[in-house]
Amino acid sequence: MHRRRFVQSSLAAAVVASLPAKQSLAALLNLTTEVSADVPAMTGDGAEVTLKQSAVQDLSNSLRGQLLLQGDDGYDKHRRVLYPEYDKYPGLIVRCAGAADVRNAVNFARTENLLVAVKCGGHGAAGNGTCDGGMMIDLSLLRNVRVDPIARTADVSGGSLLGHMDHETMAYGLVTTAGTVSHTGVSGLTLGGGFGRVGRRFGLALDNVLGVDIITADGEFRRANKDENPDLYWGVRGGGGNFGVVTSFKFQLHPMQRQVVRGRFSFPGSEAKQVLNFFAEYSENAPDNLYVSGGVAARANGLGVSVSIIYSGPLDKAEDFLAPIRKAGTVAAEDVRTLDYVFVQKMGDNTDIRSVAASKSGFIEDLTPQLIDAIISGMVPHPGRSHSMAFQQSGGAIGRVAVDATAFPHRDSKANMLCGVRWPYGEEGAEHRAYVEDYWKDIEPHTKGFYTNDMLKESQGEVNLNYLGNYRRLVQIKDKYDPGNLFRLNANIQPSV
Ligand SMILES: Cc1cc2nc3c(=O)[nH]c(=O)nc-3n(C[C@H](O)[C@H](O)[C@H](O)COP(=O)(O)OP(=O)(O)OC[C@H]3O[C@@H](n4cnc5c(N)ncnc54)[C@H](O)[C@@H]3O)c2cc1C
Repeated sequence: MHRRRFVQSSLAAAVVASLPAKQSLAALLNLTTEVSADVPAMTGDGAEVTLKQSAVQDLSNSLRGQLLLQGDDGYDKHRRVLYPEYDKYPGLIVRCAGAADVRNAVNFARTENLLVAVKCGGHGAAGNGTCDGGMMIDLSLLRNVRVDPIARTADVSGGSLLGHMDHETMAYGLVTTAGTVSHTGVSGLTLGGGFGRVGRRFGLALDNVLGVDIITADGEFRRANKDENPDLYWGVRGGGGNFGVVTSFKFQLHPMQRQVVRGRFSFPGSEAKQVLNFFAEYSENAPDNLYVSGGVAARANGLGVSVSIIYSGPLDKAEDFLAPIRKAGTVAAEDVRTLDYVFVQKMGDNTDIRSVAASKSGFIEDLTPQLIDAIISGMVPHPGRSHSMAFQQSGGAIGRVAVDATAFPHRDSKANMLCGVRWPYGEEGAEHRAYVEDYWKDIEPHTKGFYTNDMLKESQGEVNLNYLGNYRRLVQIKDKYDPGNLFRLNANIQPSV
């Protein structure tokens, strides 16, 4: 589609003409897309529609950010999410520069009945940050963190990444719970849960949300906190993106020292059962300032098992927690270091890209000997793939919140268990997919529900059940704030109206 861009002032035109990377200045200089034709699009119900050229032009003119249509410079970059297999082409991408743009986008999408995808960090396992034919609301221009060190709070814009938040808050010796890979989005992670290395001390990311600014499906700006719209405040803490687009979070921050101890121990696969039994007991009895992760992996040359910790307590006490791990089995490799917490939070970047098509996950309330047997016996080393099972620990402060205090109900879980099977991207994967489906059959009976942020293609019935006793209340909130189910690309709560 051929499209001409025009610049709204001659000064801006001169500046742009002199710069090679002019598209990156689009939002800054208020470049407006000239829409030259009607735009094909998709509704939420999957019907093909044609958007009138004039309507799309009005939308573009209303933005401080940028509208991207197929063929525009930047469209291909911004349509993408983390996982390359979600190779989708939105009908239009609205790059919102502020809450006013989000409002205009939501109003347009609702009026035209469009399918809507909301993208913050683009890490969503199901690829719901993008879509074919609908509107992608891209929040990547909306990245800002303002720390109030006196009140110990942070205002975090809805498109921010975890690394932005850790960087800004730790400058004042303050943190809030964030996940373990710094380029994950604050919004997706927080609205669905938010496990992380300090979660056992300070709760899930969502437990630290004091309030949100949100544009709901009717296009209204709403503040939700314990005093204003308390029902919505309850719902966004676990109900994901079901009610609207969060433009800003207010987080509670907590004092913490910069230095933490990281220890990683590997053991031979022949000791996998013994080490996992140790891991079960050790993580069960861990204090809140000890985050324990572990896992078993099958590669071409056999099994391996590991136990890792992040200790954020007094540094001179770290050895008390390292020593027992050394006795768990025959240590094949050990790496113990005192490190900057913000650096640790980036250590998994780029190396932790999981294969979505072949992953499985579920919460466990106990790592029983029977489950350990099932985990190990089903793992088959294979030259063409790697297979791992890891545990994202919960408990501590996460488990001390009542099941109905927020919409996130899985407070009794001891860990989120994640199984991933990877093979080189682009290679035929049918055999590996079948393998992981088969493997998970023996594991699943030991799980109780799943983390909505990791969900893939669960049925609507499974999604409803997974909200446990909080489901009915979530439907009431959905009926009030999104009765037309505009926000449906998520662990969807279907309205009853
Ligand atoms: C490498 C990697 C590491 C991870 N590590 C952790 C971890 O340590 N702890 C943990 O708890 N989880 C972790 N996760 C899972 C993570 O929580 C989810 O993938 C989460 O959805 C990512 O959010 P995002 O904003 O990056 O994704 P996106 O794909 O941008 O968003 C996911 C969904 O959130 C909703 N959404 C996004 N932004 C908004 C908004 N502003 N308003 C309303 N709705 C919105 C939309 O429904 C969207 O589809 C990890 C995932 C990956 C890929």
